[in-house]
Amino acid sequence: MTTPPPLSERLRQAQRRLAIGLPLAVVLAFVMQWAAGGAPFESAAWTDGFVAKAAPLALVAVILAVQRVGLLLGIIAGVVLAFVAVLAFEGAMGSWFWVGKFFLHALKMIIVPLVFFAMVSGIGSLGDVRKLGRLGKSTVLYFALTSLAAVVIGTLFVNVFQPGGSLALPGAEAPASVAAKTGMGIGDIVLSFVSENIVGSMAELKMLPIIVFSLVFGAVVTTLGARGRSVMDFCDGANEAMMKVVHIVMLLAPVGVFGLIAGRFGTALAEHGTAAFLKELEGLAWYAITILVGLAVHGAIVLPLILKMVTGRSPVRYVRGVGGALLTAFSTASSSATIPLTLESVEENNGVDKRASQFVIPLGATVNMNGTALYEAVACITIAQAYGVHLTLAEQIVVVLTATLAAIGAAGIPEAGLVTLVMVLQAVGLPTEGVAIILAIDWLLDRFRTTVNVWGDAVGAAVVEKRALDVAGAGAAGPPG
Ligand code: ASP
Repeated sequence: MTTPPPLSERLRQAQRRLAIGLPLAVVLAFVMQWAAGGAPFESAAWTDGFVAKAAPLALVAVILAVQRVGLLLGIIAGVVLAFVAVLAFEGAMGSWFWVGKFFLHALKMIIVPLVFFAMVSGIGSLGDVRKLGRLGKSTVLYFALTSLAAVVIGTLFVNVFQPGGSLALPGAEAPASVAAKTGMGIGDIVLSFVSENIVGSMAELKMLPIIVFSLVFGAVVTTLGARGRSVMDFCDGANEAMMKVVHIVMLLAPVGVFGLIAGRFGTALAEHGTAAFLKELEGLAWYAITILVGLAVHGAIVLPLILKMVTGRSPVRYVRGVGGALLTAFSTASSSATIPLTLESVEENNGVDKRASQFVIPLGATVNMNGTALYEAVACITIAQAYGVHLTLAEQIVVVLTATLAAIGAAGIPEAGLVTLVMVLQAVGLPTEGVAIILAIDWLLDRFRTTVNVWGDAVGAAVVEKRALDVAGAGAAGPPG
């Protein structure tokens, strides 16, 4: 990486950007409002329309200027100013969603080649596939233990807070309509590991079969000797190229997260109105609080402790390194879409060995979802409480196990956890329509759990590096240089 210019120089460049950006925002807003019709500033509506266009554009100019100082700062500005914009312009911000979508498309565009080449090249760099045994075992162990810990935390809190007790259930009946036939079974999860058609899976961004295929392909190439080397060289080169593409796409992140958050929250307010939105939130407040507290305990206490104890790294420094990825996870609600940023920030900012990160991050984004696992358990038990169903200890253990599996089966895309929740409900014989109770704020909680999912993967990369690779303390001291 090229070293960035000194801070004073970057500040000067930011000022320059602002000096050009702000007037440009005003002119652009004027032209847009003018094109929309009416004589300039003649009516209050015209002026309001102009302000509603100029102000968000000005915010974007500010974000771009802050980005000049630092990418992470730019992303933080994007998140904060998005909330400012939603507070000021509410529903009108819905029209900004396409800006966020542009960023999202760019991320999705690069996922398949990035994951494929990163995993093949990652396995290739292990040299001997037999070493994968250690890497694989540490990874699986880390994924299983942290997911289980998350579910147990969720189960504890939901039993203490009892959020379902306060949820009104209009016309709720005892679980008579058990076992809707549409849900996912455990067999479906196992089946989702392999694809009937790998090209089809790539086209549909189904990550699990892509990962299985990449692992097998990469492992086989390492056994081909000299003939395999040219294939691996190609994959290494392609991987390097993809990382550069990631770099470019990341430049879109600050304005992208602004569009995603302002657009999504704006639409929510436009659809339901601020009052209705707040009322919904109030009804589900205990449920939301239970999940948020659980996520906070897992994300801010359990995972940092594991990081510190296993790797000796400073959690504060580590979280700063992956901050951009976490904010992107929050704004996209997709672990898979965040893969490029997670990989980049874990390697570049935290100095984690590529052999660990390129194995753990793509795999983790698909199967290791601590936040989702916690959510599945809390949601299921909340729904049981709302129906007045008492779950025995044995049934709660079933919830814990299926919630863990359901999180593995959930894709790294927005609200995928909601789909696999059906499976958990079925496991203990609860009506699958119970999902309706928590639907209203799922899109919001999704963002928080996705952030914890990505944080869990990032920590996993460092843990696996330490446990499985013979790098004499490589990167353990933090970012290089
Ligand atoms: N949106 C989550 C993720 O991508 C999955 C979920 O819980 O819905 O990690």
